[in-house]
Amino acid sequence: MKRRQFITRAATAAAAATAAGCGSGEPAEGAAVSRAPQQAEYRWKMVTTWPPNFPGLGSGANELAKTLEACSNGRLRIKVYGAGELVPAFEVFDAVSRGTAELGHAGAYYWKGKAETASFFSSIPFGLTGAEMNAWLWHGGGMELWRETYAPFGVLPLPAGNSGVQMAGWFKKEIASVADLKGLKMRIPGLGGEVLARAGGTPVTLAAGDIFTALETGNIDAAEFVGPYNDLAFGLHKAAKFYYYPGWQEPGSVLECLVNRKAFEALPPDLQQVVLTACRAVNDSMLAEYNGRSFGALAQLVDVHGVQLRRLPDDVLRLLRRLSREVVEEKAGADPLFRRTLESYAKFEAGVAKWTRIGEQAYLEARALAGAPGR
Ligand code: CA
Repeated sequence: MKRRQFITRAATAAAAATAAGCGSGEPAEGAAVSRAPQQAEYRWKMVTTWPPNFPGLGSGANELAKTLEACSNGRLRIKVYGAGELVPAFEVFDAVSRGTAELGHAGAYYWKGKAETASFFSSIPFGLTGAEMNAWLWHGGGMELWRETYAPFGVLPLPAGNSGVQMAGWFKKEIASVADLKGLKMRIPGLGGEVLARAGGTPVTLAAGDIFTALETGNIDAAEFVGPYNDLAFGLHKAAKFYYYPGWQEPGSVLECLVNRKAFEALPPDLQQVVLTACRAVNDSMLAEYNGRSFGALAQLVDVHGVQLRRLPDDVLRLLRRLSREVVEEKAGADPLFRRTLESYAKFEAGVAKWTRIGEQAYLEARALAGAPGR
């Protein structure tokens, strides 16, 4: 390769790597670059539980793939598959476990039928916020418990996205009291669904791509998905009129990158580090995307589409909170790993809640007192 061509290529790679969030150590454009000889290239598949290119979730998976390619200087090549393109949404975990795909992008609570403890690593009803989840995972022992949960399946978990606090969902009829939960057939996965069942409702688990039709045809009475950014893209406002908050069932859901353990262990150490770091970068940028897009989408839903925005009544929230505690405590009695994970989670929650109360929560109250926009 001619020297000029080489420098141009190196500079392009550096720019791509910087754009992908791994560029602090990269040389300035045009600087001389020495590179190790080209090493083996890995062509991996990433299966996902999301419709292809779906905003936030599918685009987060795409961003992870691009970041992995840019940060590895092309030594990791990732082909992303939407739900149903290689395997159905709810077979993503098995596909990574058996090595059909090296990577998966999903939500951990989809796998509670395989390992009950998985629910902790997406979101627990009335549990930690997105920022608090990251704190527990990386600084409170959560990651060790998550790895232990997936170890029997040969799968390594990594947080790779966060939706932030979600919405309680779309309802065809108003929820005025706890009586309105009785007989309610609702798409709500994970532990939130079990809580709804105790309140007299019927939870249904549907993959993202099946929610709209089920709600529109009246097969279900209500559905939660994520929040304004995703729900607007799905057109859920065309299927139900009432949009409720807060998202008690998912206060800060983590999206996960599943990695086939053998495939990971076959990587050289620098590429292993690329996988770990790329997931941390996308974990951060997805939460920023949700926070950056949700308010505009909500304004569009309310101002343009006439959606009826409602807060769940206090007595409904109190009941759901009490039932949420019952559900997790009963599971802890039946499953030692679930119990140990609950102990870690609850201890961390008790500690971090005190800090959040005098840190972020007190500040937000002060901002509201001062008459900030949005009040
Ligand atoms: Ca949800």
